[in-house]
Amino acid sequence: MHEFMRIDGGAPFFPHNCRACTSAKDLIDTFAEDQVGRVYLCRMCITRGARVFGLVKGNRHAELERADELLTTSTKENERQKEQIERMTAELSARAQRISQLEALAEGMREKDKQRQYMAGQVIEHAKELALTLE
Ligand SMILES: [Zn+2]
Repeated sequence: MHEFMRIDGGAPFFPHNCRACTSAKDLIDTFAEDQVGRVYLCRMCITRGARVFGLVKGNRHAELERADELLTTSTKENERQKEQIERMTAELSARAQRISQLEALAEGMREKDKQRQYMAGQVIEHAKELALTLE
């Protein structure tokens, strides 16, 4: 009796697929033949058979698949959150820059205001001097 062998790529002999479910993916060659042709079995059908014999724990298998699914979902969620954080950081940086610009503008206006007050003071002084001279 020949050992079962895993097939990489397409099964070479008719009917080229799993005898139990007709899948053509993840096959093993049993090397058995009948009137139909070569007997191949797929990974899923072998797993189902192994589960019947208690060789594969059904719950454990389902648990692992759920964990894998969860990991995929949470990885995607992490990616999404990372992108969101990057966007928000860029936005905050732009806002901080705008605030700095506005502060500089306000400072410039305060300076101009001081100069105007000083000039107004000077004008008043001159006016007073002028008034005294005219008296
Ligand atoms: Zn199958």
